[in-house]
Amino acid sequence: MSAPGKHVRLTPIRVPDTLVVHEIYASVQGESSFAGVPCTFVRLTGCNLRCTYCDTPQAFFGGTRRQRADVLRDALTMDTPLVELTGGEPLLQPGALPLMRELADAGKTVLLETSGERDVSGVDARVHRIVDLKTPSSGEHARIRWENLEHLGVRDEIKFVLGSRDDYQWMRSVITEHRLARRVGHLLVSCVFGSLAAKDVVAWMMEDKVPARFQLQMHKYIWEPSAQGV
Ligand code: SF4
Repeated sequence: MSAPGKHVRLTPIRVPDTLVVHEIYASVQGESSFAGVPCTFVRLTGCNLRCTYCDTPQAFFGGTRRQRADVLRDALTMDTPLVELTGGEPLLQPGALPLMRELADAGKTVLLETSGERDVSGVDARVHRIVDLKTPSSGEHARIRWENLEHLGVRDEIKFVLGSRDDYQWMRSVITEHRLARRVGHLLVSCVFGSLAAKDVVAWMMEDKVPARFQLQMHKYIWEPSAQGV
Protein backbone atom coordinates (compact mmCIF):
# COMPACT_ATOMS: atom_id res chain seq x y z
CA MET A 1 0.00 0.00 0.00
CA SER A 2 1.19 3.46 -0.66
CA ALA A 3 0.63 5.78 2.20
CA PRO A 4 0.71 9.52 2.52
CA GLY A 5 3.46 10.90 4.68
CA LYS A 6 6.13 8.52 3.42
CA HIS A 7 9.26 8.63 5.57
CA VAL A 8 7.62 10.94 8.06
CA ARG A 9 9.50 10.40 11.29
CA LEU A 10 7.67 9.86 14.51
CA THR A 11 8.31 12.11 17.43
CA PRO A 12 10.80 10.03 19.43
CA ILE A 13 9.31 8.41 22.47
CA ARG A 14 12.04 8.65 25.09
CA VAL A 15 10.35 7.40 28.21
CA PRO A 16 11.53 3.79 28.70
CA ASP A 17 9.15 3.08 31.58
CA THR A 18 6.18 3.60 29.26
CA LEU A 19 5.22 2.18 25.88
CA VAL A 20 2.62 3.18 23.32
CA VAL A 21 0.73 -0.05 22.68
CA HIS A 22 -1.60 -0.79 19.80
CA GLU A 23 -2.80 -4.16 21.07
CA ILE A 24 -1.89 -7.23 23.12
CA TYR A 25 -3.46 -10.54 22.19
CA ALA A 26 -2.80 -14.26 22.16
CA SER A 27 -2.95 -16.35 19.01
CA VAL A 28 -0.91 -18.85 17.08
CA GLN A 29 2.42 -17.68 15.72
CA GLY A 30 1.88 -17.39 11.97
CA GLU A 31 5.45 -17.07 10.71
CA SER A 32 9.10 -17.85 11.42
CA SER A 33 10.60 -21.10 12.68
CA PHE A 34 8.13 -20.81 15.57
CA ALA A 35 5.06 -20.98 13.30
CA GLY A 36 2.19 -22.85 14.85
CA VAL A 37 3.19 -22.24 18.48
CA PRO A 38 0.84 -20.31 20.81
CA CYS A 39 2.16 -16.77 21.18
CA THR A 40 1.27 -13.50 22.84
CA PHE A 41 1.70 -10.55 20.52
CA VAL A 42 2.58 -7.15 21.92
CA ARG A 43 2.02 -4.79 19.03
CA LEU A 44 3.56 -1.38 19.58
CA THR A 45 2.41 1.76 17.81
CA GLY A 46 4.42 3.55 15.17
CA CYS A 47 6.56 2.79 12.15
CA ASN A 48 8.99 5.00 10.27
CA LEU A 49 8.74 2.93 7.06
CA ARG A 50 5.89 2.60 4.57
CA CYS A 51 6.32 -0.73 2.81
CA THR A 52 4.16 -1.17 -0.27
CA TYR A 53 2.68 -4.41 1.10
CA CYS A 54 2.20 -3.38 4.73
CA ASP A 55 -0.71 -5.24 6.30
CA THR A 56 -0.68 -3.39 9.63
CA PRO A 57 -1.08 0.30 8.76
CA GLN A 58 -3.54 0.58 11.61
CA ALA A 59 -0.51 0.40 13.94
CA PHE A 60 1.13 3.50 12.46
CA PHE A 61 -0.76 5.87 14.71
CA GLY A 62 -2.87 5.92 17.84
CA GLY A 63 -2.48 3.35 20.57
CA THR A 64 -2.38 3.89 24.30
CA ARG A 65 0.61 5.00 26.37
CA ARG A 66 0.95 2.51 29.19
CA GLN A 67 3.33 1.79 32.03
CA ARG A 68 5.84 -0.86 31.03
CA ALA A 69 5.06 -2.85 34.17
CA ASP A 70 1.41 -3.05 33.11
CA VAL A 71 2.33 -4.20 29.60
CA LEU A 72 4.58 -6.87 31.10
CA ARG A 73 1.83 -8.05 33.43
CA ASP A 74 -0.74 -8.26 30.62
CA ALA A 75 1.66 -10.13 28.34
CA LEU A 76 2.44 -12.66 31.07
CA THR A 77 -1.23 -13.07 31.94
CA MET A 78 -1.86 -14.54 28.49
CA ASP A 79 0.27 -17.49 29.62
CA THR A 80 1.74 -18.57 26.28
CA PRO A 81 5.26 -20.00 25.85
CA LEU A 82 6.14 -17.35 23.27
CA VAL A 83 5.85 -13.59 23.45
CA GLU A 84 6.56 -11.50 20.37
CA LEU A 85 7.14 -7.78 20.19
CA THR A 86 5.92 -6.50 16.87
CA GLY A 87 4.47 -3.37 15.33
CA GLY A 88 4.82 -1.11 13.58
CA GLU A 89 8.45 -1.02 14.49
CA PRO A 90 9.02 -1.97 18.15
CA LEU A 91 12.56 -0.62 18.32
CA LEU A 92 11.36 2.95 17.83
CA GLN A 93 10.40 2.86 21.51
CA PRO A 94 13.23 2.70 24.07
CA GLY A 95 10.97 0.83 26.47
CA ALA A 96 10.97 -2.17 24.14
CA LEU A 97 14.49 -3.16 25.20
CA PRO A 98 13.81 -3.46 28.94
CA LEU A 99 10.43 -5.09 28.25
CA MET A 100 12.07 -7.87 26.23
CA ARG A 101 14.63 -8.35 28.99
CA GLU A 102 11.90 -8.62 31.61
CA LEU A 103 9.92 -11.10 29.52
CA ALA A 104 13.02 -13.27 29.15
CA ASP A 105 13.68 -12.97 32.90
CA ALA A 106 10.14 -14.29 33.41
CA GLY A 107 11.05 -17.42 31.45
CA LYS A 108 9.37 -16.58 28.17
CA THR A 109 10.78 -17.33 24.75
CA VAL A 110 10.87 -13.83 23.32
CA LEU A 111 10.68 -12.95 19.63
CA LEU A 112 11.27 -9.54 18.11
CA GLU A 113 9.89 -8.73 14.67
CA THR A 114 11.75 -5.76 13.27
CA SER A 115 12.03 -4.02 9.92
CA GLY A 116 15.83 -4.11 9.92
CA GLU A 117 16.06 -0.32 9.80
CA ARG A 118 16.78 0.09 13.52
CA ASP A 119 19.95 -0.97 15.35
CA VAL A 120 19.40 -4.44 16.83
CA SER A 121 22.69 -4.60 18.73
CA GLY A 122 21.17 -3.57 22.06
CA VAL A 123 18.55 -6.32 22.14
CA ASP A 124 18.92 -8.85 24.98
CA ALA A 125 20.96 -11.85 23.81
CA ARG A 126 18.16 -14.25 24.82
CA VAL A 127 15.74 -12.71 22.31
CA HIS A 128 15.23 -14.27 18.87
CA ARG A 129 15.50 -11.36 16.46
CA ILE A 130 13.49 -11.79 13.26
CA VAL A 131 14.89 -9.15 10.95
CA ASP A 132 13.45 -8.16 7.59
CA LEU A 133 15.76 -7.44 4.71
CA LYS A 134 13.48 -5.18 2.71
CA THR A 135 13.31 -6.25 -0.91
CA PRO A 136 13.38 -3.72 -3.78
CA SER A 137 9.63 -3.94 -4.38
CA SER A 138 8.92 -3.03 -0.74
CA GLY A 139 9.79 0.57 -1.55
CA GLU A 140 11.97 0.70 1.57
CA HIS A 141 14.99 -1.15 0.27
CA ALA A 142 17.28 1.83 0.80
CA ARG A 143 16.53 1.84 4.53
CA ILE A 144 18.22 -1.50 5.25
CA ARG A 145 20.74 -1.16 8.09
CA TRP A 146 23.35 -3.54 6.75
CA GLU A 147 25.47 -3.20 9.91
CA ASN A 148 22.80 -5.24 11.69
CA LEU A 149 24.08 -8.37 9.96
CA GLU A 150 27.23 -8.22 12.09
CA HIS A 151 25.15 -8.60 15.24
CA LEU A 152 22.99 -11.56 14.20
CA GLY A 153 23.64 -15.15 15.21
CA VAL A 154 22.17 -18.61 15.28
CA ARG A 155 19.24 -17.58 17.49
CA ASP A 156 18.15 -15.05 14.90
CA GLU A 157 16.20 -15.21 11.65
CA ILE A 158 16.23 -13.09 8.49
CA LYS A 159 13.06 -12.65 6.51
CA PHE A 160 12.58 -11.80 2.84
CA VAL A 161 9.13 -10.83 1.61
CA LEU A 162 9.09 -11.25 -2.16
CA GLY A 163 6.85 -9.29 -4.49
CA SER A 164 8.46 -10.20 -7.82
CA ARG A 165 10.98 -12.37 -9.62
CA ASP A 166 13.42 -9.44 -9.38
CA ASP A 167 13.08 -9.55 -5.59
CA TYR A 168 13.88 -13.25 -5.68
CA GLN A 169 17.02 -12.70 -7.74
CA TRP A 170 18.09 -9.92 -5.39
CA MET A 171 17.54 -12.20 -2.39
CA ARG A 172 19.71 -14.92 -3.91
CA SER A 173 22.53 -12.44 -4.45
CA VAL A 174 22.30 -11.12 -0.90
CA ILE A 175 22.27 -14.60 0.64
CA THR A 176 25.40 -15.51 -1.28
CA GLU A 177 27.25 -12.22 -0.94
CA HIS A 178 26.73 -11.93 2.82
CA ARG A 179 26.89 -15.68 3.51
CA LEU A 180 23.63 -15.35 5.38
CA ALA A 181 22.99 -19.08 5.75
CA ARG A 182 26.05 -19.23 8.01
CA ARG A 183 25.18 -16.15 10.01
CA VAL A 184 21.69 -16.90 11.30
CA GLY A 185 19.59 -19.84 12.38
CA HIS A 186 16.97 -19.51 9.67
CA LEU A 187 16.43 -17.66 6.42
CA LEU A 188 12.71 -17.16 5.82
CA VAL A 189 11.11 -16.57 2.43
CA SER A 190 7.52 -15.50 1.91
CA CYS A 191 5.46 -13.85 -0.82
CA VAL A 192 3.48 -10.65 -0.73
CA PHE A 193 0.04 -12.08 -0.10
CA GLY A 194 -1.91 -12.31 -3.37
CA SER A 195 0.79 -10.90 -5.64
CA LEU A 196 3.24 -13.73 -6.26
CA ALA A 197 2.36 -17.41 -6.60
CA ALA A 198 3.82 -19.51 -3.80
CA LYS A 199 4.27 -22.46 -6.16
CA ASP A 200 6.46 -20.36 -8.43
CA VAL A 201 8.70 -19.23 -5.57
CA VAL A 202 8.99 -22.78 -4.25
CA ALA A 203 9.91 -24.01 -7.75
CA TRP A 204 12.61 -21.33 -8.06
CA MET A 205 14.00 -22.18 -4.64
CA MET A 206 14.11 -25.88 -5.44
CA GLU A 207 15.78 -25.30 -8.78
CA ASP A 208 18.41 -22.99 -7.31
CA LYS A 209 18.83 -24.91 -4.05
CA VAL A 210 18.31 -21.78 -2.01
CA PRO A 211 19.30 -22.51 1.63
CA ALA A 212 16.14 -21.01 3.10
CA ARG A 213 12.79 -21.95 4.58
CA PHE A 214 9.67 -21.09 2.58
CA GLN A 215 6.75 -19.97 4.71
CA LEU A 216 3.14 -18.94 4.31
CA GLN A 217 1.55 -16.47 6.68
CA MET A 218 -0.45 -19.12 8.50
CA HIS A 219 -2.89 -16.70 10.12
CA LYS A 220 -4.06 -15.52 6.68
CA TYR A 221 -5.26 -19.02 5.91
CA ILE A 222 -6.80 -19.75 9.31
CA TRP A 223 -8.73 -16.47 9.38
CA GLU A 224 -9.75 -13.93 6.77
CA PRO A 225 -6.61 -12.40 5.22
CA SER A 226 -7.60 -8.95 6.45
CA ALA A 227 -8.46 -10.04 9.99
CA GLN A 228 -6.66 -8.12 12.75
CA GLY A 229 -5.79 -9.13 16.29
CA VAL A 230 -5.84 -12.87 15.48
S1 SF4 B 1 8.20 -2.11 8.50
FE1 SF4 B 1 6.44 -3.45 8.89
S2 SF4 B 1 4.92 -2.17 9.95
FE2 SF4 B 1 6.43 -0.80 9.00
S3 SF4 B 1 5.52 -0.27 7.01
FE3 SF4 B 1 6.89 -2.03 6.68
S4 SF4 B 1 5.55 -3.84 6.85
FE4 SF4 B 1 4.44 -2.08 7.76
